[in-house]
Amino acid sequence: MPRPELSEGKALLRTSKIGICGTDLEIIQGSYGEAPSGSDYLILGHECQATVEEAATDSVEIKKGDLVVPTVRRPDGCLNCQNGESDMCLTGQYKEHGIKGLHGFCSEYSVSDVNFLVPVPAELSDVAVLLEPASVAEKGVVQTFKIQERMIWEPQRALVLGTGPVGLLTALLLRIRGLDVTAVATRPKDSLKARLVERIGGTYVNATDQPITGLGKFDLIMEETGVASLAAQAQGLLNNNGVFCLLGIYRANLATQDIGHTYDDIVLGNRITFGSVNANKRYFVNGIKDFKTIQQRFPGVLKSLFTRMVALTDYAKAYSPTKDDIKSVIDFGLPN
Ligand code: BGC
Repeated sequence: MPRPELSEGKALLRTSKIGICGTDLEIIQGSYGEAPSGSDYLILGHECQATVEEAATDSVEIKKGDLVVPTVRRPDGCLNCQNGESDMCLTGQYKEHGIKGLHGFCSEYSVSDVNFLVPVPAELSDVAVLLEPASVAEKGVVQTFKIQERMIWEPQRALVLGTGPVGLLTALLLRIRGLDVTAVATRPKDSLKARLVERIGGTYVNATDQPITGLGKFDLIMEETGVASLAAQAQGLLNNNGVFCLLGIYRANLATQDIGHTYDDIVLGNRITFGSVNANKRYFVNGIKDFKTIQQRFPGVLKSLFTRMVALTDYAKAYSPTKDDIKSVIDFGLPN
């Protein structure tokens, strides 16, 4: 792509790494995403680690040469967007780099509003590309605890459904908060994902061998598989006063369910089910703090999420992950 023009309030970024997630694959399949107006293509790449090449405005926080991670969403004019919470946009008219109405960062150079760049300390330079997926996990976890300020709450057992990058990052965030974590997926017990869960002191359950209904009750459940039937099944595993956080993208799924019993259960157990999407800058900043703790408590674990690291010319390999892959990354520093 040609080097983009810099305008007021923007920074020119030189991309170092791009992470690939399920959203990118859905965009490629044509089931999601939107090109910028006036463009008949969309540049992918919302998980990005970059260096500031030039900052047009005299920003105090962002300088040439800084290592940064751009946030994904850009605000519209609604109350929440105008108050730093575009992740809570009221209208749905927000834009998202690499996803909805704005080009992403998967080109040598790109531009972002300078105010939506998160400076990252050099000590995290080898894992910073994980900050965007971590911000999504961070929002789910932070919001869960925020909601629970409604009472005295001392959670012990957490269930994480799904061991993709966001699932594993959620498990890590919960482990450093001292929770007993069970993670469920469909990979075998000797898979890398399962071993990672055990390495951080969690329990891994392969749902193809063991029904989740036998796992007992949980104080919080984080659903990241996007499988609606599994989510509905897990709802019954919530302890009294428990919270169920939905982070997946769900496809249409017609099912027969006793909704009377479901609502009764929610009422009689003071239970909460809520959804969480995207993340504003605050969650990225929280993520940096938590990454430092994770690096100390579980050295090497964040880096081991990178199962595929390819040069730009090998982009097709990065966008064709296998079921055992965790995070595919395009590393612009690798020779083409
Ligand atoms: C991104 C979020 C985004 C969501 C919906 C996810 O893959 O991480 O930032 O809001 O997709 O577009």
